[in-house]
Amino acid sequence: MKQVHKILAVLLLTLLTLGATQVFAEEIIVYSARNEQLIKPLFDAYTKETGTKITFITDKAGPLLQRLKAEGKNTRADLLITVDAGNLWHAAREGVLQPVDSTTLQENIPAHLRDPGNQWFGLSLRSRTIVYSTERVKPEELSTYEALGEPQWKDRLLLRTSKKVYNQSLVAMLIAEHGEAETEKIVRSWVHNLAAKPFSNDTKVMEGVLAGQGDVGIVNTYYFGRLLKKNPDLKLALYWPNQNSTGVHVNVSGAGVTRYAKNAQAAIKFLEWLSSEKAQNLFADANMEYPVNKSVKPHPYVAAWGDFKASEQNLANAGMLQNQAIRLMDRADYR
Ligand code: FE
Repeated sequence: MKQVHKILAVLLLTLLTLGATQVFAEEIIVYSARNEQLIKPLFDAYTKETGTKITFITDKAGPLLQRLKAEGKNTRADLLITVDAGNLWHAAREGVLQPVDSTTLQENIPAHLRDPGNQWFGLSLRSRTIVYSTERVKPEELSTYEALGEPQWKDRLLLRTSKKVYNQSLVAMLIAEHGEAETEKIVRSWVHNLAAKPFSNDTKVMEGVLAGQGDVGIVNTYYFGRLLKKNPDLKLALYWPNQNSTGVHVNVSGAGVTRYAKNAQAAIKFLEWLSSEKAQNLFADANMEYPVNKSVKPHPYVAAWGDFKASEQNLANAGMLQNQAIRLMDRADYR
């Protein structure tokens, strides 16, 4: 009897093991700074389509990068997903990513939204643009980021803290356009016009405008979208600056294959899928962002905010000039 039990147990174990390997042809492990509710539906869709199992952890960009560095060769991660080109650039710089040579990625993603060294790829686009009170500002009064430092905006401008990578990237891109001395003048003129101390996040900037603390601010488009969803009668609107010059400042969320990926090929295939027409809306729409793939249209809700000319400066500048931007903002008393 005991013998029979033993045989049954071994059989059962064999079946279970076989079953597991049959259901999941491959497995990818993802470290993601994009939160679970935004990425889980994509993972599920990919697993359903390909049978590839995706295991993931989520955390903030900084801790994930530290973890990848600490784990080194022993990391289980195949793919890093994070937001802001500044963070992606840092990950590449710290040596935790590897170059990926993929014509699919090069065709699907415009060159300025990916690493010139092919270590990271933008997957969704957000613009960092001007938001204004529709009660106290006429759009004709607005023109450029630079012009927010003009006297007419004295004590009317609200900004998020310079500690946030989004603003570091914005200023880095301004440095690339104007040089350091000119950019410092611009940032000083913003600080001079501030109506309140910088806020901890973009939503608070918009709430400040709504409460009459200031009249204009700079925010990422999807935060505006979230607020608008809660309140369709929002007395705020987006303005697309720099349309006669450099275009609106844009940034990405994106990903890179880790340097010590155990399943690099599977991770690349997944990355290619994420850039494809069928996945782009799933990736972008979840956070009210724009697809990076030009053949995919943004969600109608996002498209309703209007068309704009975006900056085509390579986003690697956001990383390369980040330290310079941080020091510049500090000198200009932008906290
Ligand atoms: Fe954000």
